[in-house]
Amino acid sequence: MKKNEFTSIISWILVFLLIFMFIRGLREIQIEKEIPYSEFKKRLYSGNVVEVKIKSDTIHGKYYDEDGKIVMFKTNRVTEDNKLVEALEQQKIKFSAEPDRGWFWSILINFGPVLLIFLLWYLWAKQLQSGGKQAMLFGKSRARLYYGKNKSEVTFKDVAGCDEVKEELQEIIEFLKDPKKFQRLGGKIPKGVLLYGPPGTGKTLLAKAVAGEAGVPFFSASGSEFVEMFVGVGASRVRDLFEQGRRHAPCLLFIDELDAVGRHRFAGIGGGHDEREQTLNQLLVELDGFDTREGVILIAATNRPDVLDPALLRPGRFDRHIVVPIPDIKGREEILKVHTRKVKLSPDVNLSIIAQRTPGFVGADIANLVNEAALLAARKNKDAVEMSDFDEAIEKVMAGPARKSRVISEKEKKIIAYHESGHALVAKLTPGCDPVHKISLIPRGPALGYTLQLPAEDKYIISKQELINKISVLLGGRVAEKIVFNDITTGAQNDLAKATELATKMVTEYGMSEKIGPLTLRKREEEIFLGRDYLTREKMYSEATAKLIDEEIKSIIETCLQNVEKLLSENINKLNALAQKVIEKEVLESDEIDSIIRNN
Ligand code: ADP
Ligand code: MG
Ligand code: ZN
Repeated sequence: MKKNEFTSIISWILVFLLIFMFIRGLREIQIEKEIPYSEFKKRLYSGNVVEVKIKSDTIHGKYYDEDGKIVMFKTNRVTEDNKLVEALEQQKIKFSAEPDRGWFWSILINFGPVLLIFLLWYLWAKQLQSGGKQAMLFGKSRARLYYGKNKSEVTFKDVAGCDEVKEELQEIIEFLKDPKKFQRLGGKIPKGVLLYGPPGTGKTLLAKAVAGEAGVPFFSASGSEFVEMFVGVGASRVRDLFEQGRRHAPCLLFIDELDAVGRHRFAGIGGGHDEREQTLNQLLVELDGFDTREGVILIAATNRPDVLDPALLRPGRFDRHIVVPIPDIKGREEILKVHTRKVKLSPDVNLSIIAQRTPGFVGADIANLVNEAALLAARKNKDAVEMSDFDEAIEKVMAGPARKSRVISEKEKKIIAYHESGHALVAKLTPGCDPVHKISLIPRGPALGYTLQLPAEDKYIISKQELINKISVLLGGRVAEKIVFNDITTGAQNDLAKATELATKMVTEYGMSEKIGPLTLRKREEEIFLGRDYLTREKMYSEATAKLIDEEIKSIIETCLQNVEKLLSENINKLNALAQKVIEKEVLESDEIDSIIRNN
């Protein structure tokens, strides 16, 4: 029997004992009727007493009352009455004496229940503690310990599709392997590494893998565990985590979901959260207080770097930031390889095709996908997992509640590919546009894909032609959709908003419209916020001018739209080739884009 079970059985027995004693006590209180000695004697002489037990101070017994019912009674003994025994004998009543409880029993009866309660509470607390759910009373950190050398050995072999991240972490592994070497050379190692990226991209896994690669102990705690109901508990847990770290150096401390403790102070509804603030302060103190020379490295993970308190990110704290990205098509294939290592695959399974069909999937989705496929195959009593199982599983994972918003279907992928290619191609074919660096189908923020255009040099003034070019590039996405699918989608909304904004500025601020002339008709935004002359702004031009402004804006957009349509229609081959390549590879760098445009 395990120790745990043993203590739980003991505590059950104690609970029953307690209940038993309680009931007994109740019975004694309720059922025995206390009567005066004189009444007892009267009933004795009238012959309706049945049984008597004599103690040193009291007499207990039963009598029949007037209705013939049995009543249990108790009376205080009058010791001067030495005729009692005589009377009892005379009435032929069964009587006996009972010794008093000794002092020990009295104490036990009186204090036993209280003692029991304490004992139970103690056992309960201890059990929680040993069960991994430490009692809240002791303020110890719940850091779990994994020894990289022993079990649960996660290494970089188990993490795929994020080679840059691994490379960045390499230095830390080297350090943990041999801290002295680094100290000798006087190198400075980052104290704290912050991994951030969307959920399920493998941040926790990477941290474990670092410990596994370096072969050092791994202490992990989740930020949410530090935020407790009671003020001060979280802070003491933080202290304890670092204490453990120092004792086991060299080792790796990992704080998952840092945002749970590290949220910007004073932010949020209801103002400060005392407990969290204290915990965060303690964390900052510990971060400042420990020295990498001790051989302890701290890694934290979050998917909300934007809400973190800036104090956490200052030099000397979490000063190394590493983005863990959503994997691209190649990354997904690698991750698939990792997760199918122990799965029996039928020869028809093509992992690169699966990778193609799963844009937007992160590592956790892929792990889930492989598992679902294996389950489906097992349900059908197959010997190996087939491609059809994967197809079915993809649909299942995509339909999952959490993924709906992020995962892209194949059709959508095609539309996004043409949209982004449209932007890129317009930018490439229009002289004077900023160079295109990258086309990507990997979702970033609210955008499903993006075309990265970086200016060749810093610019402080922009010409009219450049603005027209910008608008054209923005319209390129929608126009490509329209030409190819003869339909338009909501995906271009942000582009259109930006294009309209630019055209409006051209007309009302930069004085670039011929019909209106060089007038600035709109006050700058800042002034509106001052609230001073909101009304004057409204009155700055007449209804007729307002109409003219609208027409001019529309005309700029229309002209651009026509030019872009002409441009893309004439270069439809290039557009098709580009989009095809984007669908295939998901990410195109500038030289690939150039060569496709040149060769088609
Ligand atoms: P995060 O901490 O970023 O939310 P996790 O590390 O908890 O993500 O990932 C959850 C699971 O998804 C992992 O246990 C692993 O099975 C799988 N996974 C995620 N990313 C990867 C990856 N890059 N390579 C292999 N498996 C991954
Ligand atoms: Mg995690
Ligand atoms: Zn766009």
